[in-house]
Amino acid sequence: MKNLDTKQIRHTVDEAYEHLKGTKGGKNADYIPYLAGIDPSLFGISVCLPSGETIDAGDTQYRFGIESVSKVPTALLVMNQYDSKTVMEKIGADATGLPFNSIMAILLEKDHPTNPLVNAGAITACSMVKPVGDKQRKWQAIVDFQTDLCGSPLTLIDELYRSESDTNFNNRSIAWLLKNYSRIYDDPEMSLDLYTKQCSMGVTARQLAIAATTIACGGRNPVTGKQVFRSELTPKIVSLIAAVGFYEHTGDWLYTSGIPAKSGVGGGIMGIVPGIMGISAFAPPLDASGNSVKAQEAVKYIARKLGVNIFAPKPETRPEPVLA
Ligand code: GLN
Repeated sequence: MKNLDTKQIRHTVDEAYEHLKGTKGGKNADYIPYLAGIDPSLFGISVCLPSGETIDAGDTQYRFGIESVSKVPTALLVMNQYDSKTVMEKIGADATGLPFNSIMAILLEKDHPTNPLVNAGAITACSMVKPVGDKQRKWQAIVDFQTDLCGSPLTLIDELYRSESDTNFNNRSIAWLLKNYSRIYDDPEMSLDLYTKQCSMGVTARQLAIAATTIACGGRNPVTGKQVFRSELTPKIVSLIAAVGFYEHTGDWLYTSGIPAKSGVGGGIMGIVPGIMGISAFAPPLDASGNSVKAQEAVKYIARKLGVNIFAPKPETRPEPVLA
């Protein structure tokens, strides 16, 4: 891929921000009451390079709910504590083609939660976190891993945690259905609570860009220099993200962006270009599948302008305009 210079990236990030900041469309998630109240005009973009340099525009220091992006650190934690084969056997790596909270996906494939990056597989991943049976230490392991991946601590948004705990009936059904199929490996209520709590952590767009680059660089955090996970897990986690990062719209997303990325209903998106960079964007209004409208456009804009696409044999020298 292209050798990218910082000035060019700075220019592209600023341009994407200016171009897209007025974009309308989408709606904040409202099935979690806290998210409905977040200012829909917030918008931030952050790119992080393997040198650790971050290039930001807009609200990149605002702490928003990490939500489903938290499935990535916990999947990596479990792959790192066990190995990728065990995660494949106990959870799976298939695309569901269905919404993130699908119960149907479990019924269709009852020998597998399918993938640690949808709700069912993420709750199973929480059940696998070691030490099994010790809620406090499992939680600490999850928080420490998020911190190491991002290079700085995330903070629990108490109000979001309460809001989500009061309304997570669908996820509770998932946890117990997994129990029915012997696909949960610790107490189901405890695993559900760990999942709900990890989704309620506050993260910034800049932290997500750094986490993406840690993954892009084989587990070495570009800011702290810490080796967070075994480098052979990068292609594994990136393949999981590529398969299911945008739920039922993952194919459309990959086809149009060329970048494996994970979204969350808090409005964040984290995109990974292995060996090259991490790109994140944040804006609360979502499309019908729960993916941020503006953040999707921002990541695509930057990818297209910089000519980064993991499927391309060489840099795209003549980028097509992404936007109408
Ligand atoms: N905590 C949210 C849920 O389980 C996360 C969903 C998401 O971000 N897609 O519903």
